[in-house]
Amino acid sequence: MTQPPSPPGSPYEAHTLPYGVCQRGAGEPTVCVRIDDSVLDLAAAAAALGHPHAGVFAQASLNPLMALGPTAWREIRRWVVSLVDGDRAEVVERCSVDLADVTMLLPVEVGDYVDFYASEWHAANVGKIFRPDSPALPPNWKHLPIGYHGRSGTVVVSGTDIVRPQGQRRPGSDGVPPFGPSTKLDFECEVGFIVGQASELGQPVPVSAAREHIFGVVLLNDWSARDIQAWEYVPLGPFLGKSFATSISAWVVPLEALAAAETALPGQDPEPLPYLSGSNGDLFGLDLHLQVEINGHLVAVPEFRDMYWSPAQMLAHMTVNGASLRVGDLFASGTVSGKDPQTLGSLLETTWNGDRPIELVDGSTRGFLEDGDVVTLRGWAAGHNESRVTLGEVSGRILDHR
Ligand code: MN
Repeated sequence: MTQPPSPPGSPYEAHTLPYGVCQRGAGEPTVCVRIDDSVLDLAAAAAALGHPHAGVFAQASLNPLMALGPTAWREIRRWVVSLVDGDRAEVVERCSVDLADVTMLLPVEVGDYVDFYASEWHAANVGKIFRPDSPALPPNWKHLPIGYHGRSGTVVVSGTDIVRPQGQRRPGSDGVPPFGPSTKLDFECEVGFIVGQASELGQPVPVSAAREHIFGVVLLNDWSARDIQAWEYVPLGPFLGKSFATSISAWVVPLEALAAAETALPGQDPEPLPYLSGSNGDLFGLDLHLQVEINGHLVAVPEFRDMYWSPAQMLAHMTVNGASLRVGDLFASGTVSGKDPQTLGSLLETTWNGDRPIELVDGSTRGFLEDGDVVTLRGWAAGHNESRVTLGEVSGRILDHR
């Protein structure tokens, strides 16, 4: 696959300002923002300038900052923009370090984790592969964003190694399920949304309130063992084929930084029920350009604008029964896939369950992932005034089973 046209601007240019949590040596973790290849320590900057919320930056996660609520999110971003725009150049200089000199930590203490299934193309492909004798889409698919609760305790930061899971697979003619390391280990290229404002138990969150609850966006790899998944998932859905690890980027891009990337959904027919309906502004899509690399070779270029359901509808649906949100909850879009074969966000689809292996640039082939493979997801979007917003990359290497 050829490299897509280069987007304008430089990586992590000054106004993306994604948040992360970094640690320098054995020092205390602190909240920081990324500017090109350096990180600005917000705890140090806030202390130097006497910022009223200095305490939320000297923390090991973004949760205390997020808990301040959406008005404070906007104020703090304005403050950070004002720092980097030059009126505090001396403080920025003094409080910045090279990215190479810090360790990036999991940015959020993840509460509940939900994974959706919001790409019509992905859902239809999976239906054809796993249920060839049934309609590709289940009958509920266009009436609600389908999702499941995942395992928040195994959400890991980019760079964490992924140990190949073991488990049961579908039995052959002897009826005995084989057990062993997964032979169909896969990635899922997804976008994750970090909930920064809680909601009350019993009180649904309407689509119109999504921007007040979604703090920011990460790239997310929902590692999936297709052989384990195919044998276990009926009737209660994904379990051990997914729960061994989910990787997220170290950098959380504020939703506010993606305002210029908001776009209309591709279209919903039938009209969803009233609690999933709203104006185009409420039901925003996002025009995010994604890339999947295996060992540095580009293998897919999914487009997030192809997603059928809006993040606002996902949030409204997961709370319509009164389930409450907590600061740090994470929900993900589901695999981002489109119609074009180059836009398929999993090997399950690209290789059609391993039947049509792909060839990498080095001449090797992959039906599924091999030990030692490094999968990296990247993404970007257009920003204001010809700028671009870079999403945090998420990368992980496959290790042999234990
Ligand atoms: Mn998934």
